[in-house]
Amino acid sequence: MPGKGLLERLKNGESLVVAEGYIFEFERRGYLKSGSFVPEVVLDHPELVKSLHEEYVHAGSDVVLAFTEQIEWAVEGGADFIVAETFGEFGEAMLALESIKQYGKGLPAVITLSVPMTMMMHDGIPVDEACKRLEDAGADVVGLNCGRGPETIIEPLKLVRKACRGPIAALPVPYRTNDNQVTFFSLTVPGTEKPAFPLDLSSCYCTREEIRKFAEECKNLGIQYVGLCCGNAPHFLREVAGVYGTPAAALKYSPEMEKHFIFGDEKKNDPYFTKTYKDAITKK
Ligand SMILES: [Zn+2]
Repeated sequence: MPGKGLLERLKNGESLVVAEGYIFEFERRGYLKSGSFVPEVVLDHPELVKSLHEEYVHAGSDVVLAFTEQIEWAVEGGADFIVAETFGEFGEAMLALESIKQYGKGLPAVITLSVPMTMMMHDGIPVDEACKRLEDAGADVVGLNCGRGPETIIEPLKLVRKACRGPIAALPVPYRTNDNQVTFFSLTVPGTEKPAFPLDLSSCYCTREEIRKFAEECKNLGIQYVGLCCGNAPHFLREVAGVYGTPAAALKYSPEMEKHFIFGDEKKNDPYFTKTYKDAITKK
């Protein structure tokens, strides 16, 4: 992150847009295996890892995440802060924070939790209390990532916002989780009982508008560290960047429907194109 550091930006009331979801994206592109999800692309095609980072920065990411689980490597590599994302257990998150404090050479710590089906972490701590305890223990940013989509992450986020004083993180998956299918693990392919996770999640993607609305809700809640996790793609992140006012280069290429061959202004009163459009959307 060039220029100001994380804490300075957050103290100034600024926000950070954050791209995650590299593993899923490389699996989708054919450079690592679903199942084991080992990021072998780092060794086999480092140039692609660099390129995807550049794509996400182009789409609006203020943060470039390193593919490392070693705190020392991040420190030696010149990281501005350390991120630990944990799955479902408060104890694991606390251990991660302690490790960052021990080996992170004083770098700020961002700790996020993936909230299970209930508002309770697997070790019995309510999500808001978990975040509060992490904040009290010295985490600089706390919040939620992965697991839940925009629709089901908002309620726990509100609880966390209420419980904590400092900056909050929100990085859902861009899938249509709902009251019955709270996390992406439980999503089914629409119209079937077939589990969508992990190979068929593309059938459950949010629309760009849903991502934009999510970003607006986050902005209203005062979420300062916002982004998308597994399933993220540049066109989604650009929506978040647009809402948060991040000067993303990709905004230059936002949709321009008035120039579209069917929907464009010039075509609106043209009977041929009006008919083409009606034909296209009419159910057979
Ligand atoms: Zn994720």
